[in-house]
Amino acid sequence: MAEKSVTILGSTGSIGKSTVDIIRRYPDKYRVVALTGNKNIALLAEQAKMLRAEVAVTADENNYAALKELLAGTGTRVAAGADAVVDAAKLDADWTMSSIVGAAGLLPTMEVVKRGKTLALANKETLVCAGEIVMKAVKDFKTTLVPVDSEHSAIFQTLEEKHRDAFDRILLTASGGPFREKDLAFMEKVTPEQAVAHPNWSMGAKISVDSATMMNKGLEIIEACHLFAVTPDQIEVLVHPQSIVHSAVGYKDGSVLAHMGMPDMRTPIAYALAYPERMESPTAKLDLTKLSGLTFFAPDETRFPALRLAKECQAKGQTATAVMNAANEVAVGAFLNREIGFLDIARVVEKVVETSDLPPVATIRDVVAVDAAAREAAARCLKG
Ligand code: NAD
Ligand code: MG
Repeated sequence: MAEKSVTILGSTGSIGKSTVDIIRRYPDKYRVVALTGNKNIALLAEQAKMLRAEVAVTADENNYAALKELLAGTGTRVAAGADAVVDAAKLDADWTMSSIVGAAGLLPTMEVVKRGKTLALANKETLVCAGEIVMKAVKDFKTTLVPVDSEHSAIFQTLEEKHRDAFDRILLTASGGPFREKDLAFMEKVTPEQAVAHPNWSMGAKISVDSATMMNKGLEIIEACHLFAVTPDQIEVLVHPQSIVHSAVGYKDGSVLAHMGMPDMRTPIAYALAYPERMESPTAKLDLTKLSGLTFFAPDETRFPALRLAKECQAKGQTATAVMNAANEVAVGAFLNREIGFLDIARVVEKVVETSDLPPVATIRDVVAVDAAAREAAARCLKG
């Protein structure tokens, strides 16, 4: 097989590390073009050396000299700053993993789309704040977009385009997070440590908090609407605490095609890396005889209002979802910094969404402006 050139945007994060873990096993198959990170330059330098990356970029300009020193004499070029991350995304690579967290991934991801190659998309916030614009560009540039979010990878694999007429609904599964069975009085007092301790998945701090508030499932509803051209009423969210069924697609004849596997992101990452083929991944094999059972429940939107909020914003349109995403990023950051309580996250997001009056977005530049304005509004809401 010919060598595939790959770039990983956000290589030092949870998804990035899992991607590196697969790629490093096949040094003859993959040539690494660019790796990007932010604060953890020691890990970035280690990855760049191990994979002999052409370029290593830190989003943090203050880290330039230190990264340069760590990679002195290795042949890896070094750059720093948000623009340098965007430049890294522009470099030609057959396959690019977009795994930066938050709206910071939007501009680099858009550059990947414009190259018309393969985009493995983990950075769901890009679709939440600019899904219409991004999906149009995917079409215009004939980009191959393979979702990496486990649920969307599952839907991508079970949604038969040839039977689109017979499509009935998407069953989007959710673990329910660490507070699935807790009441509001408990949730009012939870700490960041409790919120990031996810029962089934080991993930970055932001998505772990999103899973605990179930905003993650709200973001995923919006993500699915863009990826699969459906509306929120065609998506049924199911709390499934074992995280074995990663999602399913129902058809009009009553068939439900579900995707199962161990909860390990290396499976959807390997799927995206090999697409349209399949490859081996280090994920443990699923042994159904070892499971005590698979259970499914309807979600509780009273305790988890983020779910309702996300659907309402999706109905309002792209400005609303961009505002919601930005407010959520600010609120989650404030919670992790112990400035607000856990239940305040959804309160802040709801207040910012309700009070914002921002113009419709038509371009990525518009989205960036809405994102910035919503962040300011959220910061004011935190103070007030
Ligand atoms: P993480 O926090 O572990 O890693 C984030 C990465 O982004 C790091 O490499 C970090 O250096 C980089 N980064 C952070 N701020 C940046 C900035 N301002 N500019 C450029 N780079 C920056 O996050 P994660 O858990 O790996 O999640 C990454 C994305 O994948 C998120 O959008 C998340 O929703 C999505 N996702 C993650 C998982 C998972 O299991 N972790 C599953 C599905 C989807
Ligand atoms: Mg997911």
